[in-house]
Amino acid sequence: MSDDLKLSKITARVVFDGGGNLVPEFEITWSDGTVGWSCFAGGITVGPIEKRKPGGDVIPPDGLGAMTEFSSWATDCIQNLEFNDQSAFDGLLERHNFSNWVGQSGCVALSCAFAKGAAKRRGLPLYKVLGKARPWRFPFPNVTIIGGGAHAGGVFPIQEIMVVPIGAETFIEALNWCKEVFVATKMRLVREGYFVGTTIEGGIWPPYRSVEQSFELVCEAISDVGLNAGTDVVLSLDVAANELRDANKYYLGDFVGHLQSDSYFELLSRWISNYPIGFLEDPFAPQDGDLTRRLLARCVDSMRIIADDPVASEPDRIIEVGAHGEFNGILVKPTHCGSLTAVQRAVQTAFDSNLMPALGGRSRETEEHCMIHIALAYGFPLLKIGGFSGVDRISHWNEGLRLVESLGHAELVNVTALIGSGSKLDSHKVVVNAE
Ligand code: PEP
Ligand code: CA
Repeated sequence: MSDDLKLSKITARVVFDGGGNLVPEFEITWSDGTVGWSCFAGGITVGPIEKRKPGGDVIPPDGLGAMTEFSSWATDCIQNLEFNDQSAFDGLLERHNFSNWVGQSGCVALSCAFAKGAAKRRGLPLYKVLGKARPWRFPFPNVTIIGGGAHAGGVFPIQEIMVVPIGAETFIEALNWCKEVFVATKMRLVREGYFVGTTIEGGIWPPYRSVEQSFELVCEAISDVGLNAGTDVVLSLDVAANELRDANKYYLGDFVGHLQSDSYFELLSRWISNYPIGFLEDPFAPQDGDLTRRLLARCVDSMRIIADDPVASEPDRIIEVGAHGEFNGILVKPTHCGSLTAVQRAVQTAFDSNLMPALGGRSRETEEHCMIHIALAYGFPLLKIGGFSGVDRISHWNEGLRLVESLGHAELVNVTALIGSGSKLDSHKVVVNAE
């Protein structure tokens, strides 16, 4: 065993996330002086399963002392230990219950700091030490155009109206199309006399109360830039319906009011028939699995219904919702998982259950922009990171543009991995510790 392979310390400090909340960031130092850094923040909408997980990602103003105490305790746990791979380090985080101190997002930051340090020591980009979804291909971007729900003070019911450029041929073209649609949407609103602001997640603050009017707006913006809504670019919604459910009804803002489950089901069905929606996240609250199953049965060949809140990236739940036919896609959030090993487990479980895995950031982000590495490493076909504004969002895409140089290509995953061919996904094996 060589001394310079050993870890020497963990340093935690408190910094601000993109929304101005205090969050912990971490540095892990090896005996040879290599330092790995990372910082993750949690989200605003927290579903029932996530609520049960250890929090701790928002530090109270008196939390600075706790970080000093944590650094010394954490250093004692790892000092002079050598870890041969990511899963061994992640196993230690779990055994010592690090999440009780710093929550799931703190743990994934520690896991990532370890991976980044290990990559640095080996002179390799992060995606290469994490996994081998060979041939490495870029994920399709899922970019928020209009933000709403809890991310926009509840003035508009739908949390995110996004676009996915399913017809793009390269990652660069895909990003350019998203950018153009984002700008064209803003320009339309400016022409209509609206002041255009952005939500916490970088989507355009919704100026309308009508969901349909917002769908029309985004579809018109897609046409404005010479693209076809439906074949080039599809709409993608995160309804975050857990936030809408109120005493057995769904509340869609004052404009629509409270709807009984059946009327709400019919409203969603009309949206799916009338607009080019390719992806639909959390259309119902977690307790309405039967309604989700009925909706999926209607549109299984034409769209992906993606589970976020009802699953919270937990492998057992992924298997369950797949077996029940409730969803055909899963959002995997590293901040739900608590380590990169757990992310890898979740994505493999999704592939094994024939569910398309999408990788998801949070409404609160930091300077950490490693999501594109995670997507490449584990073969995620879709990456959701918020709107096309704000450096905390754009930095992920910019990192992808840098990786085009490292990879020597800008090829996207095969579109059938994203939308399926028939209702079957290509089978996929996530291979870890690539190089
Ligand atoms: C989401 O719901 O997918 C999301 C990004 O929002 P939050 O981080 O607030 O959960
Ligand atoms: Ca969501």
